[in-house]
Amino acid sequence: MKVALFEKPHHLNVCSMDIRRLEPGELLVKVETCGVCGTDVHIVEGTSRSSPPVVLGHEYAGTVADAAAPEHRSLIGTRVAVDPNISCGTCYYCRRGLVHLCKNLRALGVDINGGMAEFCIVPFAQAYALRADMPAELCAFVEPVSCAIHGIDRAAIRAGDTVVILGGGTIGLLMLQLARHAGAAMTVVVEPLAQKRALAASLGAHSVLDPGLGDPVDQLREQFPEGADVVLECVGRTSTMEQALRMARRGGTVEFFGVAPIGATIRLEPNMVYLRELNIVGSHVNPHTFDRAIAVLRSGMVRTDGFTVQRFPLDGVHDALRYQREGLTLKSVICPQGL
Ligand SMILES: [Zn+2]
Ligand SMILES: [Zn+2]
Repeated sequence: MKVALFEKPHHLNVCSMDIRRLEPGELLVKVETCGVCGTDVHIVEGTSRSSPPVVLGHEYAGTVADAAAPEHRSLIGTRVAVDPNISCGTCYYCRRGLVHLCKNLRALGVDINGGMAEFCIVPFAQAYALRADMPAELCAFVEPVSCAIHGIDRAAIRAGDTVVILGGGTIGLLMLQLARHAGAAMTVVVEPLAQKRALAASLGAHSVLDPGLGDPVDQLREQFPEGADVVLECVGRTSTMEQALRMARRGGTVEFFGVAPIGATIRLEPNMVYLRELNIVGSHVNPHTFDRAIAVLRSGMVRTDGFTVQRFPLDGVHDALRYQREGLTLKSVICPQGL
């Protein structure tokens, strides 16, 4: 089978790989769609952790082609989305229900061969059955939505809140919709690209700010002098993380959702946190939110039909990553079985 193998930084190669025998409890999934995300771009650039050599791709769905266990064989032919994050179940954190903080957390497409391939071997527990009528492209959004749902849980938005979202990419636009459903009365999206600002407005953002027109903190405070109840940083740059801290109201919450380069640091005045009682929270991956992600996508609560999706064959993986990196599309999606 054909795969996109990450061998070392700046070396991502499309090559052929044998499909190994299934171990007990494993499924063989024929991959239909695999989304490309910022993490994939960072892995290839060498700024995000991974365990090469490894087949990339952690946002994918497909149909079950084979199953090792006789009791799983009824799943053959079923469409599934794959939760890439595998916790150990036995460490301190797993035993306290904090599976996303697992000390031995490993991920398909990061540490174990993932979905940028014609086929992928998946532990049964990571596969979530989807209805056959769910469009294939929508299936590629289950994983990012599952992470965004955890972010919304962590942000603890209350009815009537003002919520700022820094970044109008896929995650920012998913967060916008989830924040509105969580009770945000006012939503503000900060995004430099006009096309993404327009999309944010069409998805119900009450205000969209162009950081090119001046300090977005000043722009926000013109509309909301006290600042925002909740600020969701969905960019992953140190500059926007510092902005986020200045955008929150006294007693407000700042969430770091965007992934900054390993080792990056920001300036933080402790007195600002003390005097203003800022709540600073992180949000990491998707503990037990996969089922809810499928539910919000299936119900239409979260819409992705306005998102510009660019499809690529597996051979086009380098272009797919470049489109994602340069913001030429909202989402690059690889279709390993062909377009
Ligand atoms: Zn991702
Ligand atoms: Zn664990």
